Amino acid sequence: MSDAVPQRTRSNELHLKACERTPGGVHSNIRLAAPKVFFDHAEGAWLWDVDGNSYVDYVLGQGPNLLGHAPKSVVEAVHEVSEHGLILGGQHSVEIVAAESVCKALEWPDMIRFGVTGTEMVQAAIRAARAATGRTKVVRFEGHYHGWLDNMLVAPRDGVWGVASAGQLGSHLDDVIILPWNDAEAVAETLRLYGSRTAAIIMEPVMINSGVIEPLPGYLERVRQLCTRYGVVLIFDEVISGFRLGLAGAAGYYGVTPDLATYGKAMAGGYGVAALAGAAELMAPFGTGEITHAGTFNGAVPNMAAVAATLNLMRDDPPYDHIAEQGTTLMAELRTLAAKHAVPLRVAGLPAAFHISFGDPNTVVTDHRTLQHLDLARYEEFAGMLIDHGIWVAPRGVWYVSAAHGPDELDETLARFDKALINLLN
Ligand code: PMP
Repeated sequence: MSDAVPQRTRSNELHLKACERTPGGVHSNIRLAAPKVFFDHAEGAWLWDVDGNSYVDYVLGQGPNLLGHAPKSVVEAVHEVSEHGLILGGQHSVEIVAAESVCKALEWPDMIRFGVTGTEMVQAAIRAARAATGRTKVVRFEGHYHGWLDNMLVAPRDGVWGVASAGQLGSHLDDVIILPWNDAEAVAETLRLYGSRTAAIIMEPVMINSGVIEPLPGYLERVRQLCTRYGVVLIFDEVISGFRLGLAGAAGYYGVTPDLATYGKAMAGGYGVAALAGAAELMAPFGTGEITHAGTFNGAVPNMAAVAATLNLMRDDPPYDHIAEQGTTLMAELRTLAAKHAVPLRVAGLPAAFHISFGDPNTVVTDHRTLQHLDLARYEEFAGMLIDHGIWVAPRGVWYVSAAHGPDELDETLARFDKALINLLN
């Protein structure tokens, strides 16, 4: 690629055309902030747009492409079953294989329900917690994302967390308590006051959506203890961390077991599947009809085949050591490059998912509030330059690494990153 900003003439034309029928030209608001690039195809850790530009991909479809784009054996498994029917309106034995594979990989849950999106599985989790406890309140944390529905979407306005979208009512959050994360005392105090009225605590066990911030030592354990003491259902939202941090997700990685957990993204090799898993006593009421959970596409044959094939791949040839190695190398090399140019860049998080921002690399970041000490807006601008230089990244600074990232991808990334930094400084 030349140093010049790439031509995206065809993408721009398509975007204008898309806007005629689709608000903003995108079908998910998460994509509104990114440049409107139309892709032609993807392979491994690479994307090519309709103008012929290549990108090393660190968005990975917002997480699903943990094994790289379109893993062959997953696509083949889906094709094979698809020839014989897609949605049968009854059951297919591949559902059993998928359920068994996921529960075995995760180790802790007894039962699982499949759906299509993480957003809806979070709702199922909250409903199950309220049904089991007969309580109303849900504790959640600043900066965590649990889907876009009325009772879970929040944003800060003038330092106060509340509704995030036009059309969302303040009353939707009446039963939601929003706390800063990584503050065990705040949880303890809240449960002292409201424990008997609290159904659930929901969290990303590692706050990947805002800054990839890990739990402080002992934090998850303490929250687990408090939930047990007050009879509160602990829900881990593992829609990103599940199958990314390891086969057993964040629960396995940190050694803390929730009562319920949601999964999605990396579980199905790029196909649209999500799940709620948990202990039998919490999950069984879905089976008696006491708790409603439904969905036309839940358990669709191709989706279940995708889960089964993805889990097969992950079990037979675990990608985690490779991802950890590549991610660790990449994080270190990016820091070295920034130091070479005397740019204050902070690269932090986990090798499988890390965060880049401008600011003092030694800034202590433990929650959404301290994350604001970094210059996130400058990175957002820089992300546009990275994209112009052929590195596909999200504006909010989270980079995902896949099994398909190897030395060639890293070399190319570093060369392109170097040029983007030079561009930034000019
Ligand atoms: N929970 C978390 C932690 C997520 O990151 C996301 C999506 N990024 C969701 C839930 C919602 O999942 P979906 O977009 O599939 O509805």
